[in-house]
Amino acid sequence: MVQSAVLGFPRMGVLRDLKKATEAYWAGKISQSDLLAEGKRLREAHWKIQKDAGVDIIPSNDFSFYDQVLDHIQLFSAIPERYTSQNLDSLDVYFAMGRGHQKGGVDVPSLEMVKWFDSNYHYTKPTLQNNQTFSLAKDPKPVREFLEAKAVGIHTRPVLLGPVSFLALGKADRGSNVDPISLLPKLIPVYVELLKALKAAGADQVQVDEPILVTDLKPAVKEAFKPAYEAIGALGDAAPRITIATYFGDIVHNLEVLPAFANLYGLHVDLVRNPEQLETIIKQLGPKQVLSAGVVDGRNVWKNNFQKSIELLQAAIQTLGQERVVVATSSSLLHVPHTLASEKKLPEEVYQWFSFAVEKTHEVVVLAKAVTEGAASVRAELDANAAAMKSRAESTRTNDPKVKERQSQVTPEMHNRKSPFDVRYAQQKKHLSLPLFPTTTIGSFPQTQEIRIQRNKFTKGDITEEQYDEFIRKEIDKCIEIQDELGLDVYVHGEPERNDMVQYFGERLEGYVFTTHAWVQSYGSRCVRPPIIVGDISRPAPMTIKESKYAASVSKKPMKGMLTGPITCLRWSFPRVDVHQSVQAQQLALALRDEVVDLEKNGIYVIQVDEPALREGLPLRSGKERDAYLKWAVDSFKLSTAGVEDSTQIHSHFCYSEFQDFFHAISALDADVLSIENSKSDAKLLQVFIDEAYPRHIGPGVYDIHSPRVPSEEEIKQRISEMLQYLRPEQLWINPDCGLKTRTWDQVKPALTHMVNAAKFFREQYKA
Ligand code: GLN
Ligand code: ZN
Repeated sequence: MVQSAVLGFPRMGVLRDLKKATEAYWAGKISQSDLLAEGKRLREAHWKIQKDAGVDIIPSNDFSFYDQVLDHIQLFSAIPERYTSQNLDSLDVYFAMGRGHQKGGVDVPSLEMVKWFDSNYHYTKPTLQNNQTFSLAKDPKPVREFLEAKAVGIHTRPVLLGPVSFLALGKADRGSNVDPISLLPKLIPVYVELLKALKAAGADQVQVDEPILVTDLKPAVKEAFKPAYEAIGALGDAAPRITIATYFGDIVHNLEVLPAFANLYGLHVDLVRNPEQLETIIKQLGPKQVLSAGVVDGRNVWKNNFQKSIELLQAAIQTLGQERVVVATSSSLLHVPHTLASEKKLPEEVYQWFSFAVEKTHEVVVLAKAVTEGAASVRAELDANAAAMKSRAESTRTNDPKVKERQSQVTPEMHNRKSPFDVRYAQQKKHLSLPLFPTTTIGSFPQTQEIRIQRNKFTKGDITEEQYDEFIRKEIDKCIEIQDELGLDVYVHGEPERNDMVQYFGERLEGYVFTTHAWVQSYGSRCVRPPIIVGDISRPAPMTIKESKYAASVSKKPMKGMLTGPITCLRWSFPRVDVHQSVQAQQLALALRDEVVDLEKNGIYVIQVDEPALREGLPLRSGKERDAYLKWAVDSFKLSTAGVEDSTQIHSHFCYSEFQDFFHAISALDADVLSIENSKSDAKLLQVFIDEAYPRHIGPGVYDIHSPRVPSEEEIKQRISEMLQYLRPEQLWINPDCGLKTRTWDQVKPALTHMVNAAKFFREQYKA
């Protein structure tokens, strides 16, 4: 019999229950025991969904109050001392690492948070010391949650992050220079102890995630698999049966690692991303090893194509036999929304094209049945599936000849600005008259309760469009007034009208559909609701002119227009899988190009086109695929921005500072000013701007906006002086790491006051 498996389930709950509970806990509105009870309720509900669907292998320890990597930091007692020395209890230590803690005399910033492979989920980086030790936490979470499931009659397969990935995803703490992977010999005994504890608790299987295997591995990391998994494999019956899970790519380039798994039970591979790897992997498996075939997409919302999946599965079964094949989700379902059943407003036609997490649990079950008992056993499901596939392929929603026509007329010249940077800059300088170290923000200001209330009222039809517009204008007035008080140099309108930087545009473009409840976790309690690209994209009308024009009309300083770039629109949507992403990106670029030109026509001479998702779209491995991506990604950005005059200043923004591996692409964007995340990264990362003699302007973030913590003026000055070791003063802009929408005004005002004062301090210094 072919079994079905789910690699992980979304944690938030149908109505983002977990978000609400954790935020209420942080605000002191509910107690710790209330929060723990809510976590328990959600875990049980999610196990039950999978059990009721008939899933054979149900995950546990996939739940997390903040992030699964952070859970492992605590599980292995790899907590930097600055958190343990604060007299906080273990849950508050945990949250302090995730989001910083500034309360009751305690003031610690969070650990660094970065993107989880090529997804928009963020994990907390293990941050390790030269003299790092590990030990198993008391009452280890994986054991506790396994037993919790067992107590309600559900036998689960605990999910662990593998020791090699855990270390390889980590970094040395400030002041240390340890190579994380060198700590492996210290981590292995803790891992062994954990596996034994799981076995003792009754777990017969575990899923050990080693997603690092889909990337290009440094030799030391590659070599680490052997000692790690030989030690674990040697446990034999003292440990549960282990399936190594890889996802988001193929592992064919790392085949020499596989012998390290010889004594393990099984291997999971992502056959959605790379079905071609199947043949190779089958050949590499040991004589008894099980293949977990990830055929149901954990990263996108499209209904599984049963016919295709069955063909793949049958190919595997032919060689391995039914007992050695498991039908699985390609990755954890963390990256897809909870259930399609919550969507009441999708156009009738498209509804049947999608599957969210709950529906995907049914898909693995149907597929397992189809290949175990034959197609006849699930005839109705297969027929309905085939009909859905056909409906989508033939829909008029999918194809727009006008869009295709316009794409065919794109010329190479349309990608280039009129003049080189120095010519443009001379004009911009005259036109904008900015001081040295100009200060600005990244776009959004706090999205207050009041803003959400009014937006809801408008969506529900409780207030008219005029009333809503009036409210938004007042919000813009307020933002401008505050920026006047703060003394910033380039203003923003604050984005009060935007629910989300991608969804907002998705709702205004043809070719998109949008959902009402389809939230996915981005980091901690933060969720995003990616719109879905279902067809060819075009802009029926201007999208941001009304607000930006108004803002410019009431402000004394230059107003920055704010758009989300084509790659970010693409990456933070659920893209189509029936046409190449480069085609979708170009369609978005053309729509945005029209918007950029319209902004300029309406008196907006600084335009920021955000591309925070550019990096996460980077294929995980270097080589041809990466080069091809960068080519079309850069072209899309340039196509969207190059339609303006030299005197108009194009900004772009990125929420990270690791540019080393694709700097040429960042440079090729030819943006006049870049703002980047930097406050929690090493200023050394800026070295690349020197090495590459980067001529244009850069604003590396001077403080972290993900944390409620208010940075001091001293801290910001310190940061700026570090930056000045790498950047020329004329090149440097002063801004926060990212937009401020998740913060409150009483955090934002003092933080920006400190920032502006710090900029003034350096302005004085450099005047002399
Ligand atoms: N302009 C956006 C904002 O400020 C940028 C957000 C982002 O980069 N994630 O909210
Ligand atoms: Zn950002």
